[in-house]
This record gives sequence, C-alpha cells and structure tokens, in this order.
Amino acid sequence: MIIGVPKEIKTDEFRVAVTPAGVRELVQAGNRVIVQSGAGEGSGFHDTVYSDAGAVISLNAADVFGEAEMIVKVKEPIAAEYDLLRKGQILFTYLHLAADKGLTEVLMQKEVTAFSYETLSVEGRLPLLEPMSEVAGKIASLMGTVHLGRYHGGLGLLAGGAVGTERARVMILGGGVAGKAAAEVAAGLGAEVTIFDINVERLHYLKDILPPHVTTMYSTHETISQILPQCDIVVGTVLIPGAKAPKLITREMLGIMKPGSVLVDVSIDQGGCFESSRPTTHTEPTFVEEGIIHYCVANMPGAYPRTSTFALSNATLPYVKILAKEGTDEVLKQFPVFKSALNTYEGKLYNAPVGA
Ligand code: NAD
Repeated sequence: MIIGVPKEIKTDEFRVAVTPAGVRELVQAGNRVIVQSGAGEGSGFHDTVYSDAGAVISLNAADVFGEAEMIVKVKEPIAAEYDLLRKGQILFTYLHLAADKGLTEVLMQKEVTAFSYETLSVEGRLPLLEPMSEVAGKIASLMGTVHLGRYHGGLGLLAGGAVGTERARVMILGGGVAGKAAAEVAAGLGAEVTIFDINVERLHYLKDILPPHVTTMYSTHETISQILPQCDIVVGTVLIPGAKAPKLITREMLGIMKPGSVLVDVSIDQGGCFESSRPTTHTEPTFVEEGIIHYCVANMPGAYPRTSTFALSNATLPYVKILAKEGTDEVLKQFPVFKSALNTYEGKLYNAPVGA
C-alpha cells in the first residue's frame, strides 16, 4: 500500500504520526511510505533519517495526499487539508468527530474511509488514547511541583523536601491511566501522595503497584474535603466516559486550600474537574483564582513531542501495519477492533457517539 505521512499543521502540534523506525518496518513489509519534508522536525527526526529508513520525501502536502492510499496523521484534518482528501482514501488519526460537524460532513461527502484513534477499543480499553493519558499524567505532577516554586507564585515548597523538612502533599483525583502516572512521578519526587478513585478494584491494583508512601482513598465529597486543606498540589484526572467531568472541587472549596497551592486539571479536555478551571495554553499555562494557581493546559503532551510521538506511534503502528496489509474490506471482516475505529465509510457515518 502507499502510505502518506503529512506534516501536522494544527497550531502548536509538533508530533508526527510515524517514526523513522516505523517507516522502516512498513517499507520492509512491502509498502511505499511518503513522508512530507519537515514532518518529523518537531519531534527531532530530520528528513534524512526518514529517507535512510526507506521513506520517499515529498516536498508538499498535496503530493503526499495525492499519491497515498492511506494517510496516517496525529490530529484531525483542518480546513486547509479538506480539499486534499480523496474518495476511498483511508485516513487513520485522532478525529474527535463528535465535536466537529464540518469535518464529519467533509469525510462523508468525500467518501473517505476514516478510522479514528480515540474510538478504537479493545475489551473496553482505548489503547490509542492511553499513551497520551500516561504522558499527561506524568507532566501533571512535574508542572504541579514546578509551579509550587516561589517564582511561579507558589508556596515555595520542594516536592520531596530536604533532610529535616516537610514534603509536599499531593492529592490525585482519579486513579486511571493518567492518575497512576501522576502518582508514580509525584511519589518518585518524594512527595506524600494520596490517590482517589471510586473503583475499589482499581484502588486495590494501585495499592499493590504504587510505592508504600502512596495512600489510596475512596473518593467522596467528604474524603476529598477532609484532606484538601493539607494539600500543596491537586491533580485532577477523573473521567466518566462520554460525559463531562464531575466538578470534584467547587469554587467554594478553594477557600479551605492553602494560598499558593497548585491545581492541575488534566481532565480539562472533558470540561475540567474543578469548578474554577478554564482551558489554558503552553504559552500561558496558569492563572490564579482565590489565591490558588490553576494549570489547565488542554494539550499537555504537546510540551514533550518527542516522547509523545514515540508513545503514540508505538501504540498505533501495529494497527497501521494490519490496515496496510489487509485493506479496509478485509480488516472490517477479520478484525472487530477496526469496526470500533471506523467513523466514516462510503459516505456513511459509523460508530454511534460520533457526530452526536
Ligand atoms: P481513565 O478512564 O483511565 O481514568 C479515569 C479514572 O477516573 C477512572 O479510574 C475512574 O474510576 C475515575 N473516576 C471517575 N469518577 C471519579 C470520582 N468521582 N472520583 C475519583 N475518581 C473517579 O482516564 P484517563 O485515560 O486517565 O484520562 C483522564 C482524563 O485525562 C481524560 O479526561 C482524558 O481526556 C484527559 N487527558 C487530558 C490530556 C491533556 O492534555 N489535558 C491528555 C490526555 C488525557
């Protein structure tokens, strides 16, 4: 199959969909891979590394889209890319069509075969979303500790303290993929960590695998309110699939927190789990409300594109390989997982939540 890897053109997007190692594997499997010049630059991969791996380097997006039977991307196509899509072309990327009626219509009109990363589901898990949650969780604890620094307006407390001094107390709300990763980093920095969830089975698992100085706690308004006044950093990672995040910390509750403590809202892409949260960007990541520093960056993995590119492409490559080998009709017949990823096909919309 001819596979195209265009350069991402969405603002602040530095990831690339396929690494040079991925290109090598796809080429070895008999595919022709066309990479747009500069596509890997933001993740530290120069064109020469791609051509050494067997890619054909193409100077512009029109050539990549024009020749490729399958386009592998990171972010959804934006308006400037709509005209480049072709009938019958396979598109494999994050799509988030529920939030993008315009793109949904374009993909249907153009009869693009669009598979999305975020709906691809295996036994109730979303394996192509998990790597970004892990990265975001790790960044969350790092950013929490950085913004606790005095020069960022924070309390001036070092996460792990020093000999004879107190350590920072970190509360993590939600013990899923992002929450577990946040707990690992906070605990690794030496902070005292309490992780909350409503899934008791998950709390058992977290207790087994996290270091002994991490406490697990069943999440209720009462347990959160009890511990909140002592906390220096709160990381919110709760998710109720398909719904807006619940507001576990209300504006009123900010009053019982220490001034100069930090809230990091990873769930901001689902509306946020603190009432006072609003989305921020990497250029202006924080704001202060009621004396509390809020960090609410909606695309946290964008800060570390090299790690994020590897983490994402490690997860997507096996599926890219199957799609390239079997083609659309066969994967839909043989591999149920691709049915969950299918969003548009032959002008029709698939997958119920999409376009809602
Ligand atoms: P996940 O499903 O693995 O984990 C969510 C956890 O929240 C689950 O364990 C669930 O039981 C728990 N939960 C639900 N209600 C709760 C409550 N009331 N109290 C405590 N825990 C509760 O989800 P995930 O993959 O870790 O993703 C978490 C969030 O991070 C999602 O909203 C995701 O979109 C977001 N995310 C944001 C970024 C970013 O850049 N901001 C990047 C990646 C992911």
